[in-house]
Parts: sequence; C-alpha cells; structure tokens
Amino acid sequence: MVLNRRCVVESFQTPPARKKRYTRFRIVNARITPASRRMPKSEQLPVDAATFEEWDRAPYPLRLRGGVQHYAWGSTDAIPELLGQANPKHEPFAELWLGAHPDLPAHATIGSGEIALNRLTGAAGPVLLGETAFEQFDGVFPFLMKILSAAKPLSIQAHPNTEQAESGFARENHAGLELDDPQRNYKDDKHKPELISALEDFYALRGFRPLDELDRTVHAMLELSDLVPDETLTHDGMVELYVDLMQLPQREVNRRLIPLMQRLRIANGDREFGKADPEYWAIRADDEFSCDDHKDRGLFSVFLLNLVHLRPGQGMYLPAGEPHSYLEGTGVEIMANSNNVLRGGLTPKRVDVEELLSVLTFECGKPTVLELKRDRGSGTRARYVTPASEFELSRVQLNSGERQIADGTHGAELGIVLDGDLNIDSRGGSNLDLKRGQSFLIPYGIPYVMSAREAATVFIGSVPS
Ligand SMILES: [Zn+2]
Repeated sequence: MVLNRRCVVESFQTPPARKKRYTRFRIVNARITPASRRMPKSEQLPVDAATFEEWDRAPYPLRLRGGVQHYAWGSTDAIPELLGQANPKHEPFAELWLGAHPDLPAHATIGSGEIALNRLTGAAGPVLLGETAFEQFDGVFPFLMKILSAAKPLSIQAHPNTEQAESGFARENHAGLELDDPQRNYKDDKHKPELISALEDFYALRGFRPLDELDRTVHAMLELSDLVPDETLTHDGMVELYVDLMQLPQREVNRRLIPLMQRLRIANGDREFGKADPEYWAIRADDEFSCDDHKDRGLFSVFLLNLVHLRPGQGMYLPAGEPHSYLEGTGVEIMANSNNVLRGGLTPKRVDVEELLSVLTFECGKPTVLELKRDRGSGTRARYVTPASEFELSRVQLNSGERQIADGTHGAELGIVLDGDLNIDSRGGSNLDLKRGQSFLIPYGIPYVMSAREAATVFIGSVPS
C-alpha cells in the first residue's frame, strides 16, 4: 500500500482575499468616473506617470504576465513547457493565474514598468472594463482565468449561489471570524460559476449519476446496499443516501471503505482498471488521501458522481450547487472572481460536510459536455455558451498568415497564446508580438487585428459585452 504523506495535515491555503472596496463614482461629462480616479500623490503607480496618463487617455493592448501557484497536486511539466521554463527540481506547477485576484494578480506592462491588474483596475477601471461593466461588477475585474494542470485528484467541492454566498459571508462576519480564520467557509459574498476547457484528455467527477445507474451501482455494492431500501432507488432515497454517507462517523466510514477498497484492489489485480472506470480513480484517490486508519469519505463520491472524460476542445460549465472534482489533466479554466469553495473530501484543506450539503442541488443525470461554437461569420473564433454574466471563454485559431479582426464592441479581454507566433495591432496604439506561453490584456472596446506569423491558438477570456 502506498503510504500517504498528506496524512500529515498540511495547508496549501493562500492568504484570504480582502473584501474589495470600490470607489463611488460620479457622472462627469456624461462619463462615469470614480471620484478617486486620480491617484493621490502618496499612492503613485509603479509605472511612469506620463506613460500611464497617455494609456489612460487612449488605451491600447498590454503585455501581461501571470503568476504560478505551486499546489502539491499540480503536474510538473505542462505549465513549465508552456512558459518555456526549466523545472529542474520537478516542482508542481498547478495553476497559472491570469486575473486581478489579490492573492496572485497578473502584471501588465506599461512603458518600462509593470502594474498588478487589481491596481490597474483600481486606477483605470472604467477605461479597462467599460463603464457598464465597471458599475455592474462593483469596480472589480469580474473573472479569473487559469491554466490548470492536475497530476492528482482535487477535492470534492461545490460552490454557493449568490444568495448562499451573501448569507454565509454575513453569518461568518457576524460570528466575528477573521477573513483568514481557518474555520471560515465564505471568503467573500460572491457566487463562483466556473468553466473548464480541456487542452488534453481531462478527467473529472461532476454531478450525480442518473438514478437508474445509481440504483444499479448502489445495490451491487455490498458495502453500501444496506443503506438503501431493496426497491428501486428514488431521488429522495439518493439524497438520503448521500447525506447519510457524508455524515457517517469516521469508524463507520472505515468499516465500509476498508473492505470495499480491499475488494477493488484484488479485482484490479485480475483485470486492471482504466481511466474510464470509477474504480481506477477510487484506488488513486485512496492512495493519495486515505491512511490505514482513516479512509477519506470523499471516496463515496467517486462512485456516485458522473465520471467525465473531456477531449481537447470540450468544456464543462459548473453552476452553483453542482458537486465536482478535477481528477487529472490540463485545461483552461475561467471563473467568477470569488474564493468560495465548500469541500467534501479528497483534500487536506478544510472540509465542511454540513455546509457542502446545504448548497448541493442534488440533480441527477448525464453531464452536459460543451463544444465550442463558431462565431457567426468567423472561421477563426469559437466560444463556449454559458449563462455566466462575469465571463466568456473563446478560442481563436489562425493559420499562418491569417488574421482575426475585432471591432470595438467587445468587453475587456485577457488572452494567452497556447501555440504559434502572432501580432496584435490596435489602431495606432501598440503592436504586441506574442509567442507560445505569452499573455495579453485588451481594454474594453479597443478595435484590433490579430495576425499569425505561424499557425496560432489563443484562448481569450472576456467580460461579456
Ligand atoms: Zn470548483
């Protein structure tokens, strides 16, 4: 048996996000401008003032530099290869963050200096986001885009809806919990819809399986079947089963999971399970998260949730209340700018089963896999259609010498070049040459032309306009 070093509880939690304050704005010459738009002299920006003023008056696309999160579950190769960085110590590179999140903001280049995207949003929000989005999202850059590369399963989790986030955040504030208190579930009052787009074969758990599948699975598992009535499993029965399993005392979890996992390991010796089998992931997760005397209750979810295999280009949208876990693979992820994650196992981070259960929607059914939809009249740009108001994710693919013209009707955009070599030219403003692994920021409503010197693939996160 593989002994688990994570049995020693460690925390990868990043410092808490500060609740963002935004300036009140007033109408000046029919333009909404934050009252404190001009930085006080004491709070100089880290870039040349004259160059910033010039950009502020006539904005243009900027080069962007993301930050890397080295969480232990990260793969050691995909992100370093993308960034063209050596990784001689085989450190995990879990996520490349492109956004304005204060925990790890991306940095935009203005002139010869760099400015964090959250500071840039604070200093020039209406220019960057457009006045409508600036107002709609309380002066905060509304999404975070990531390259995520998982070599190991991530926690079973779900995110609250806006109402649950508002009341949860208020409740914990009222209880006097500091923002960095380890007992805290709600770091802010926002919901966190998210979308993942696979860049390679990507495996995940997501949503409860269809009732008939669950019925067959649960009745066939000796270690679970006594928890459900003999007759066909109903939706209420399924909810009751999941709630029971998640709330079992630890010794009961062990009593069920120890023989179950032993049985699966013997079966695995006869016929090796593959990535299309839940048993394969249960054994991997057991190696990673259980100790001999402490089986991780998240393992139950591996059998009850849909196992999803995304092929490159396919995506998955996760609305509030949908349980999920990423198991393995590299993808582009985009999410609303929130840190509210409720976990139910397969993690050394804080697990709060009761709070997780309170936000789950318990919908059963086959998971929806999203395909990219081509923009009308464009042979080069395609996007995922989701209900999220904070973000949209699209992919631009250009053959060598091909161009993509963007008019001035788009929201603020963040992009990353995944392949190729291209140029972004905005009307007289700037001319950015970008290669694989490099990122950029395009302010709201700036017309530009993207031309490929070499066949290129670019992912662009944008504020829906
Ligand atoms: Zn999530």
